[in-house]
Amino acid sequence: MTVFCLVELDSGGVAEASLRAMTLARGLAADAGAAGVTAVAFAAAPPGAAGLGAELAAYGAAEVYAVSGIDGYAPQAWARVLAGLLAAAGGAPGAGASPEISGHAVVAAGTERGNEVLAHLGAVTGLPMAANCVAAAPVPGALALVRQRWAGLLLEEAVLDAPAALLTVAADAVSPVPVSGRPAAAVVHELTATAADADLVIRAAESPDAGGGASLATARVVVGGGRGVGSADGFAPLEELAALLGGVVGVSRVVTSEGWRPHTMQVGQTGTKITPDLYLACGISGAIQHFAGCSGAKHIIAINTDPSAPMMTRADYAVVGDLHEVLPALIQTLKARS
Ligand SMILES: Cc1cc2nc3c(=O)[nH]c(=O)nc-3n(C[C@H](O)[C@H](O)[C@H](O)COP(=O)(O)OP(=O)(O)OC[C@H]3O[C@@H](n4cnc5c(N)ncnc54)[C@H](O)[C@@H]3O)c2cc1C
Repeated sequence: MTVFCLVELDSGGVAEASLRAMTLARGLAADAGAAGVTAVAFAAAPPGAAGLGAELAAYGAAEVYAVSGIDGYAPQAWARVLAGLLAAAGGAPGAGASPEISGHAVVAAGTERGNEVLAHLGAVTGLPMAANCVAAAPVPGALALVRQRWAGLLLEEAVLDAPAALLTVAADAVSPVPVSGRPAAAVVHELTATAADADLVIRAAESPDAGGGASLATARVVVGGGRGVGSADGFAPLEELAALLGGVVGVSRVVTSEGWRPHTMQVGQTGTKITPDLYLACGISGAIQHFAGCSGAKHIIAINTDPSAPMMTRADYAVVGDLHEVLPALIQTLKARS
């Protein structure tokens, strides 16, 4: 059995969400008696292969495919490369699942990209995909899964009976744990992919000011803004603070409903689940649907005029005050230090 893991890269190297996926994939590989995980990373130019190999070996990669040649994020083209690797591992998934690929698995983080690429991979190969898994273990002829439903309110036990398993790992379910002791070096393969035009119809080129590609789902710092920000223009200090901290801005649903920011920036049950080291929630009340998306943050700081807002009572640090006064003061202090 080969356990592949799609690895996403951000400005700091391997995205933390992918280290979580690597941790689940490593457990699955060990249970299945595989030598280790085969990690697959995409980058416009070949990523620093040696550094990438060492970073991923520390999380259980035995082999790493560093794939270049596809400019930007192209989910169908990425899926096509994964389908090729799956086929090369034994069997030929093309139109319709092939029984010969039995036993292999492809794991990805439960991020927008991870879910989207694996959905495309399912379409390309005809294999079923299980999203938001928190555990996976081989049982005779199948895979036993536990996965989140309803934004994590329910845990479902399921058996995936398929020639090969496509899984994404719930955003906050698995901690990223490196292998203990000195990891064996991973074998790094540098691949240059050529994608067909039809596979590049959906393609997102990274913008240079997007923090090196850090996405909301993988960012280590998220500065959140809610109705309390007051207007679209009110986000300027949040964006300045996010840039100073090397993070990105996320928003509540009220903000997207008002049209102040796009839905892609929404945190929550019907938005993105985030797992940053720090979530700075500004003018957000902390409704249950919002909290469903940010409860995986390691530390929460809330800024709110209302000390009894749920976000304030759940935060590690709560600042009672007007965000329009607190944020400029914070930015000034950070700038004075740098
Ligand atoms: C099915 C369903 C799915 C949903 N999914 C999501 C989701 O994915 N994500 C999501 O966010 N919501 C979601 N919601 C909406 C959710 O219930 C809340 O309505 C929403 O999160 C509230 O957004 P908010 O905190 O920005 O606004 P509010 O609840 O209005 O809170 C604004 C806060 O700002 C504070 N404030 C005001 N002025 C200032 C100031 N100057 N300085 C500091 N603080 C100030 C106020 O005290 C208040 O606490 C969903 C709802 C439903 C029914």
